[in-house]
Amino acid sequence: MKSMHALDIELVEMTLDIMKYAVNRISNTNPELGSPKKEELLDKLVGTTITEDGIGGEKAFHLFKDILVKAAVPVDHPRHLAFVPAAPTRAATLFDLVTSASSIHGAYWMTGAGGIYCENQAMKWLVSLTGLPRTSFGVFTSGGTAANLSAMIAGREYWRSLNEENKAYKALLITSAGAHSSIKSMAQVIDADIILVDDGEDGRLTGDLLHNKIKSLSKVDRKRLFAVIATGGTTNAGIIDELDTIAEVCEKEHLWFHVDAAYGGGALAAPSVRHLFNGIEKADSITIDPHKWLFSPYDCGAVIYKNLNLAKKAHSQKGAYLDIFKDEGAQGFNPADYQIQLTRRLRGLPLWFSLATHGTKRYQDAIERGLELAQYAAKTIDSMSHVSMIRPLGLSCVLFERNNWSADDYKNWTYDNHKKGFALVTPTKWKGQTISRFCFINPDTTEEDILKILESMK
Ligand SMILES: *Cc1c(COP(=O)(O)O)cnc(C)c1O
Repeated sequence: MKSMHALDIELVEMTLDIMKYAVNRISNTNPELGSPKKEELLDKLVGTTITEDGIGGEKAFHLFKDILVKAAVPVDHPRHLAFVPAAPTRAATLFDLVTSASSIHGAYWMTGAGGIYCENQAMKWLVSLTGLPRTSFGVFTSGGTAANLSAMIAGREYWRSLNEENKAYKALLITSAGAHSSIKSMAQVIDADIILVDDGEDGRLTGDLLHNKIKSLSKVDRKRLFAVIATGGTTNAGIIDELDTIAEVCEKEHLWFHVDAAYGGGALAAPSVRHLFNGIEKADSITIDPHKWLFSPYDCGAVIYKNLNLAKKAHSQKGAYLDIFKDEGAQGFNPADYQIQLTRRLRGLPLWFSLATHGTKRYQDAIERGLELAQYAAKTIDSMSHVSMIRPLGLSCVLFERNNWSADDYKNWTYDNHKKGFALVTPTKWKGQTISRFCFINPDTTEEDILKILESMK
């Protein structure tokens, strides 16, 4: 029987088909807005694909491109304004293919030096956006969740190392009510308790609110407290906590200060809003998701540490078969030492290639474009009588309501637009009330798209 790794004519033909599909998809600015189908229906349309002898690449690929891909939402669709959309650059997506084809193990310098070198150049730029000291550095992770987890582990291990007493306590951290769900989940993963500070009328955690909360803690809780997590752009509303005053409190109270800027971090590159992040340069760790507002394909997150050594102490893995990677000859930066994952894809490579191709100025412009679209949407909503803004803009998040709509109206409108293949805009909640939300990332979204979507609410 032929080896499945054999290079034969059939494989060459399939390669061409697949490359053709990839090139077409990468150059398509208006991909079909797919929508999910029930599993039973997919079973009928697709059926069993994994058999003893295989169904053949040609058939499997046809099923994928004719049926399955249409049962998924292309996140880079210009009228996909739900959740946090994505809009990888064409250069980045192309280089994602190159990253796969190159088969590089990205955990250690010994096997991945050339690729890690590129990732690190992109990382240097990211770090420079934060204003952290030059000795700070980071690594690319699978996303914001993994970055938050890696940072929390580093912070807790540092706290535990401070004295024997801390090792006996269950750790406690403070964040805001508007913090991302992954913070709560990852606190569970590290078995830490979490206190959510009510972030006031405008949803913004401040140094004062934090200080008052710390003062109200019991003696034991104060001892258990090791970290504060502020958000640099909440996912729902784009709210940036008052980072400078929070940083001051953390410094005084000797607490690890983490800033979760998974969504908002891209806006550090946008001069028009950079000042809103003042204080981020005092963080002990920062999360930024290049797969959100820095135009990388999924998946690519990043965690940055002020003191890289503290991350290494927490994350460096030991094993007899791993010693060789730390050998003199292989000395260099080992990404595995700074986050939870060992074997890793060089997921920062697509970002590197795109940055190298376009330059950082084009990134700045593309991010400013997202902010501009949000301003346009807000202005338009203000000028229309059937819709109104719920709160001022937070970065590129627009929270607005359709006058007199019930939660069901929002839901039906969402489904209807999605089924038609027109747009995906999903409802959210603000202070308990169901409303609508736009999040702008994609610079290909047009003013006309926004108008049409708002008019469809009439
Ligand atoms: C998206 C997001 C996360 C989670 O990141 P993933 O990449 O989805 O794992 C965490 N925090 C914030 C603020 C986010 O917007």
